[in-house]
Amino acid sequence: MNELAKFCKDLKKDFIPKTKDPAKPVRFWSEKDVLDGRIVDAFVIIFRTKGCSWAFKSGCSMCGYFNDSMWQDVSDDDLLKQLNLAMNSYSGQKFIKIFTSGSFLDNTEIKPKVRKEILNKLTNLTEKISVESRPEYVTDKTLQEIKSIVDSNKFEIGIGLETSNDFVREKCLNKGFKFDDYKKAANIIKKQEIELKTYVLIKPPFLTEKESIKDAITTVEKIKNITDCISFNPTNVQRNTFVNYLWNRRKFRPPWLFSIIEIIKESKKILKDVRIKCDTVGGGSIRGAHNCKLCDRKFLDAIAEFSLSQNLNVFKGLDCECKEKWLDQLEIEDLGFGSLNNMYG
Ligand code: SF4
Ligand SMILES: [Zn+2]
Repeated sequence: MNELAKFCKDLKKDFIPKTKDPAKPVRFWSEKDVLDGRIVDAFVIIFRTKGCSWAFKSGCSMCGYFNDSMWQDVSDDDLLKQLNLAMNSYSGQKFIKIFTSGSFLDNTEIKPKVRKEILNKLTNLTEKISVESRPEYVTDKTLQEIKSIVDSNKFEIGIGLETSNDFVREKCLNKGFKFDDYKKAANIIKKQEIELKTYVLIKPPFLTEKESIKDAITTVEKIKNITDCISFNPTNVQRNTFVNYLWNRRKFRPPWLFSIIEIIKESKKILKDVRIKCDTVGGGSIRGAHNCKLCDRKFLDAIAEFSLSQNLNVFKGLDCECKEKWLDQLEIEDLGFGSLNNMYG
């Protein structure tokens, strides 16, 4: 186990989950998304499972999802109660997104029979279902089982690749798989005619702002012919994580919104029919992607609007005096040997 893995594991050593009811999901809500080029309402459910198997071993350096997990087995019965409770608020949305703070395809997190039951129930109600998984759980067998249920529905699997750079994924993120593993999973997904969404992280720890812009754009270039959708995730500072540890010591600043827009614009040039999304969790706060307090809102709104419309015009005319600070940071951060990460709050 390398140093970062050990550190991520140690951070969870004394972790005690807040007592939560295993029969209640973490959250569920309705939001806008795109289905066949149309903006539709999507219903989102975050199941409360035992947690991500990788987080139990050590976990990714930026991921605090385990804070929402039970950290112990959740019975099949409770998982189905969670589904029923959430579905009481379902109102016919054509798109349902399932999150587990781990992998929906991991049999130790969600048993195959529960997975089947969930999908059986949802497939009759909606047109598209989206789930997430680490690549090692994407197997022919599991996908064939899924396809036999969802049949003519659209089905999407999201994989958190984060970066195409194996060195960054291992040394900065402790992600625990290689670019080749992602590509292998992508092939299996394609074979089953399932859609692939790839999460790309904006600003892994240890990278400067400029390096992280380059890393995201290089990643887009490398996966442009593999994925059906790219979802950018700007790093936000989540509790009990390695990123939180760095942030507390002023060694990490979440990305600037200017950087995100730069990445989106460059990505749009590279990608043709591949959809680009960006979910700026915690945006505008000091723990999330931000510029200055004065302009955060309008930049965040534009990013959200772009995610739906794919129209770069939403960024036209966006400006603020703080752009100079961002440009200064890009210019001089290399000279600070990492000590300037936080120079502009
Ligand atoms: S980012 Fe994904 S794989 Fe990594 S610890 Fe979190 S849930 Fe698990
Ligand atoms: Zn500003």
